[in-house]
Amino acid sequence: MLHPFDIQGKKILITGASSGIGRAMAVVCSQMGADVCITGRNAEALAQTLEMMNGSKNTRIVADLTNNDAMNQLVNELPVLDAVISNAGINRRMITQFLKEDAMDNVLNTNLKAPIMLTKALLKAKKLNTGASLVFVSSIAAFHSSIGDGVYSASKGVLSSFAKVLAMELAPKKIRVNTIQPGMVRTGLTENGPLSEADYQKDEQRYPLARYGKPEEIAYAAVYLISDAACWITGTDLVIDGGISLI
Ligand code: NDP
Repeated sequence: MLHPFDIQGKKILITGASSGIGRAMAVVCSQMGADVCITGRNAEALAQTLEMMNGSKNTRIVADLTNNDAMNQLVNELPVLDAVISNAGINRRMITQFLKEDAMDNVLNTNLKAPIMLTKALLKAKKLNTGASLVFVSSIAAFHSSIGDGVYSASKGVLSSFAKVLAMELAPKKIRVNTIQPGMVRTGLTENGPLSEADYQKDEQRYPLARYGKPEEIAYAAVYLISDAACWITGTDLVIDGGISLI
């Protein structure tokens, strides 16, 4: 039997695994036989994710990735990894005129600075195997504009740009670097916005495939990028958006 999408036994770190897309990634990767370390700030929610996962070799480490000490401690506790999914992210919608500097710093620190500094720490600590796969969760917001999302879009656009440079830097080590750019997926992140349930239902119909995505549909793409099936893919952005960016 041919199994190019197999991730069994791979050691994977998933950030932002206490809810939403990261939780689905953790569950799916564990169901496919990977040994997954999950991280996030909310210990209780992380424990719930762990309960939903398969296998006995999964671990959880509570860490605020915007805190350097917490990040370094996380890196110290990790085994050498085959894959990292940098998924943790936040959004604070605000039109530019009413931008609050602390909110902007919070978005940029979480969505951009933290995954970059985590990557640096993992590299310095030699915690990435030859042939490892790094996946950054960007967004179609990187290139598809919505009013109020300026700082969030900027964070994701720069993250995608960063990933391409990193792909060049790490290619000699056979480490691949890619991003996933999801369209709208209903999670904790989208519930903070100004849209009502009726707004969401109307908005969903704008999608060519007539619905938003599900967290596990983003997880399957991460599995693909981690697996050997994607061994010649680096420096790319994988759009998963039900076709919304076509219109
Ligand atoms: P959720 O709010 O459900 O999950 C966000 C995760 O990030 C949580 O697990 C949260 O954990 C973690 N997190 C936030 N801040 C920090 C921090 N400082 N340190 C460590 N962990 C942190 O949102 P989604 O699942 O929707 O988002 C996941 C990713 O997908 C994000 O990067 C988001 O930008 C991206 N995305 C989402 C889309 C959507 O429509 N939902 C569309 C496109 C991209 P905790 O609170 O425990 O710290």
